[in-house]
Amino acid sequence: MKLILLGAPGSGKGTVSDFLANKFKLKHISTGEICREEMAKNTAFGTEIKHYMDKGNLVPDELMIKVVNSTITGKDDYILDGFPRTIPQAEAIISQKIDAVINLDLPESAVIERLSGRRMCQNCNSGYHIKYIKPKKEGICDKCGSKLIQRPDDTPKVISERFKDYHTKTKPLVEYYQKKKLLHTIDASPPPETVRKAVTELVKELKRN
Ligand code: AMP
Repeated sequence: MKLILLGAPGSGKGTVSDFLANKFKLKHISTGEICREEMAKNTAFGTEIKHYMDKGNLVPDELMIKVVNSTITGKDDYILDGFPRTIPQAEAIISQKIDAVINLDLPESAVIERLSGRRMCQNCNSGYHIKYIKPKKEGICDKCGSKLIQRPDDTPKVISERFKDYHTKTKPLVEYYQKKKLLHTIDASPPPETVRKAVTELVKELKRN
């Protein structure tokens, strides 16, 4: 099964993808995660994209498409988290025969609250929130005991840049996939457990058909 997770920054794409990947044995491919890892390792790609990432802008299509194509070629079971983010990116993977696109729907005010309170483990990348997903010990990862940090692109100025790109470049994908009859919208505002149930039901239904 090949799935795409669509949604604004902070709508919960990473958490939901992680959950679905574990539950349905899919490879979780997060382009944001790939970008952050490449930057941390100082690879040529990492150096090339740093400028865009730091400002909260999208990495140019041709760079992203190359990376994703080399990651998904030959794979049958995966969930794409954070890709495509533009129409040209969607067109670039058209031969992949995607089974469904899950669109996480959340009002912008809620998204901003989620993003500004988001924290992640600097070692294992586990996600937390200062209000909604608190670690047992403040500032420390439950899973590996490392320090929790705020992503550099989760600060107010960078968040507003990310939103500009989201509205102009990513949101048109909702209509794009609707026209292809692949879009399934899930309300992402209820508590995580409710969202998890809704996406589980959806994927089970997709598997039955
Ligand atoms: P994310 O973790 O998905 O919010 O992605 C973090 C950042 O990585 C984005 O703000 C972009 O700078 C970059 N990025 C991730 N995926 C893509 C993509 N499909 N196209 C362009 N840039 C991306």
